[in-house]
Amino acid sequence: MEKVIIIGSGIAGLASAVRMAVRGYQVQVFEANNYPGGKLSEMRVHGFRFDAGPSLFTMPELVDELFTLAGKNPKDYFQYQKLDSICNYFYPDGTTLKAHAQSEQFINEVSQKLKVEPQVVQAHLNKSAFIYKHTAHLFLEKSLHRIQSYLTLKTLRSIFALPFLGINQSMNNANEKALQSEKLVQLFNRYATYNGSNPYVCPAVLNIIPHLEFSKGAYFPKGGMISITNAIFKLAVELGVDFQFNSKVEKINIEAGEAKSVVVNGATHAATTVICNMDVAYAYQHLLNNPKKASQILQQERSSSALIFYWGINRSYAELDLHNILFSSNYADEFKHIFEFGDVYDDPTVYINITSKYSNADAPANMENWFVMINVPSNKGQDWDKIIQAARANIITKLSKMLGVDLGVHIIAEQILEPRSIDSKTLSYQGSLYGSSSNNKMAAFFRHPNFSRDYKNLYFCGGSVHPGGGIPLALSSAKIIDQIIPNSQS
Ligand code: FAD
Repeated sequence: MEKVIIIGSGIAGLASAVRMAVRGYQVQVFEANNYPGGKLSEMRVHGFRFDAGPSLFTMPELVDELFTLAGKNPKDYFQYQKLDSICNYFYPDGTTLKAHAQSEQFINEVSQKLKVEPQVVQAHLNKSAFIYKHTAHLFLEKSLHRIQSYLTLKTLRSIFALPFLGINQSMNNANEKALQSEKLVQLFNRYATYNGSNPYVCPAVLNIIPHLEFSKGAYFPKGGMISITNAIFKLAVELGVDFQFNSKVEKINIEAGEAKSVVVNGATHAATTVICNMDVAYAYQHLLNNPKKASQILQQERSSSALIFYWGINRSYAELDLHNILFSSNYADEFKHIFEFGDVYDDPTVYINITSKYSNADAPANMENWFVMINVPSNKGQDWDKIIQAARANIITKLSKMLGVDLGVHIIAEQILEPRSIDSKTLSYQGSLYGSSSNNKMAAFFRHPNFSRDYKNLYFCGGSVHPGGGIPLALSSAKIIDQIIPNSQS
């Protein structure tokens, strides 16, 4: 039987393992950590449970599909509920806004609180749906780097629609033109951060993202985000995938232009196909000894990183929900700090995720598990200890003021994740959350393809390659390599 080796057990590595096992390959996964999931993992601190990385779950059908492919009922492995309310927004002047999942309710809320005409909001959501309709099938479901992807009627129609998709203006410009309220512009600009980009620079085609939330919905997995990893890992094991943990791949051996084997702890493991789920820049730098290719990839600006405080809070807050955003007073300045100055704005937008609102077991009774995150630049050697100390103080002051409490005295447990530890824990270059940013209208085409142009039998999946970062796109990358890996000869 032909053997596939997968480097890394991030969400895309796990999905690829399932897909390859379903196709009848012998599959072996080497993972540097002693647990699966990469960024999609969890931690426990003094009686509180936290999802370590992703907190927003969209497009659950991409997870379900893996179970269906394997002839299983997804519900036997993995359950989730649709959120009625996607996010609670708080503005510095005291305005609050609930982003209801039902678009009519959201439109009502916006027109009442922000005095924006309902048809303006509806038109903006319709535009988002239009972009989705014309781009998703090509950008999210196919390799952009193979001519076959362009030879369909649907794709030709999308090419004709290109001038209307917003590739020639920034997200912020499009939102300012379309919306009647600075606060609503700020809300829609935030979607650029879903792939680590800058709304003042990235193309307005990224206005596709709100469609995922308002039309397709946001979900909460039973047991927290970690249950996504656990369910796919369980399925992969049942399908016979062999997982080797604490096994960092040191080298991919190339012979006559073909990937032939990998080296782990000094031992060589042969394979007919190698799938690389690790950060693509690191793979070229360290495993393929190809610094020229790595530096070509790194010419694209890195996406932002994150600073996260995992706080155990000894009380509960009725005004907060599962997802909460407390906006900064000057969004443009905040992004200048992240992408131009490489530092952290002193009034950052703060995201608070509280899974104990939905999952009682995640915190002791009457307490809450707060995942408190701000966007920060990728690691270029800044003095992070100093930055973290200042950011912690600024965040506590901001939240105390906006929530009307002395938050500092309610924090009874703490862990911190920051660009340096994101890099070391998941081997993501400079701790970027999503590989390269989309701060460029050609960025989609500049992401590394899902296959190697230099080495045969070598494929790439995960957040650092096409179509990009985030759980849905990482799962899509596994789907794309499943389309392009030829069938076994055995
Ligand atoms: P990764 O999770 O990057 O894992 C790669 C794996 O490869 C790791 O386990 C690593 O140990 C292993 N590895 C690397 N090199 C080697 C080697 N040489 N040998 C063996 N193993 C190796 N996405 C969302 O959809 N919603 C969100 O709300 C969201 N929020 C986020 C918040 C944070 C704080 C972070 C960090 C990410 C967030 N993301 C979010 C992004 C999302 O987590 C990632 O895009 C996605 O999980 C990436 O998956 P991946 O398959 O690329 O692998």
